[in-house]
Amino acid sequence: MATKKVVVLPGDDEAPQTVFAALEVMRALKLDIEFIEFPVGEKWVRGETDKAARAAIDSSDSTLFGSTSGKTTAINYLRWGRQTYANVRPCRYLKGFRSPLAHPDGIDYVIVRENLEDLYLGLEGPLEALAPLHLHSRILRADLNTSERGKFAIKVITERKTRQVARFAFELARKRKAQGRPGKVTCTSKYNMLRESDGLFRQLVEETAADYPDIAYEQFIVDDFARRVVQSPHALDVVVMPNLYGDILSDAAAGTIGGLGLAPSGCYGDDYAYFESVHGTAPDILGKGVINPTATMLSAAMMLEYLGFNEASRRFDQALRAVYAEGSALTVDQGGRAGTAEFTRAVIARL
Ligand code: ATP
Repeated sequence: MATKKVVVLPGDDEAPQTVFAALEVMRALKLDIEFIEFPVGEKWVRGETDKAARAAIDSSDSTLFGSTSGKTTAINYLRWGRQTYANVRPCRYLKGFRSPLAHPDGIDYVIVRENLEDLYLGLEGPLEALAPLHLHSRILRADLNTSERGKFAIKVITERKTRQVARFAFELARKRKAQGRPGKVTCTSKYNMLRESDGLFRQLVEETAADYPDIAYEQFIVDDFARRVVQSPHALDVVVMPNLYGDILSDAAAGTIGGLGLAPSGCYGDDYAYFESVHGTAPDILGKGVINPTATMLSAAMMLEYLGFNEASRRFDQALRAVYAEGSALTVDQGGRAGTAEFTRAVIARL
């Protein structure tokens, strides 16, 4: 296997501390990876660093990304530039995670969030701009009143992107089934209310299900699904949903297993993938040395698997499991007293 190239974008505020911790573990694994490190978002030179990052991304195999509050601009390129349409967010409980649920053992499902469209295209503006369209409301049975002072936002669901992400979800369910999971895809959106947009999403996922007779299929309206995340998470395997619901519900899902510090993610396209935690930049704990790097470490382990370092990915995962099962070096958010550095040392010691 040729040397793999990984771009490291540490991100902003406290997020870089989690990326540096994950890097330490990967270095300890002594893999044939060249890490191309960029500065933290605060040190980016407007335009210049972004250009260099794009070029580095294009000649790399993957990117490990810390969260951004807007300073690390390359995120848009990773997403839309590289068309990473499937945001994979595993929700897996490990013994030792501080879950608020009475019986979290065995929770193991994956949210596949559509990553490129829905309400995330930045198409917003003043209501009056819609006047020439004479939009008619099916619900109000009247034209939209554009003389009110207010704003609009546009939600876009395309056939191509929905089919892409649906297929990805079913392929993932197949892979997981081969590893002993149930082999089921759940689709959720607000298809009873947003009949055209979310209705199309649901319809296309259902159509895709017909191509996968070996995979069970079910669908729930998103409010009902939100309850299921809390009440019956054990029944889930792979869940596919539009962008906004995926953003919100994956934070809720993280809450059920013990918090944002534990939730990893990977964003996959047809020829590129990048990896980042579900959580943001945690500005409220900036400089305290207590941020939990687990989410970024699990994201890095997903990246190692994507790059073909399966054995190293498994070792990384098992070291994390061991640290949590023992419980002596946990960070504050998990009820422990360790800082980020002590936690990282504990993981490396158990590789
Ligand atoms: P964004 O809008 O980018 O998601 P945010 O500030 O709204 O950013 P987060 O940065 O995810 O949200 O933080 C939400 C809360 O969770 C904060 O109190 C933060 O300190 C805490 N938090 C997030 N990630 C971690 C972590 N890895 N370890 C410990 N606490 C965390």
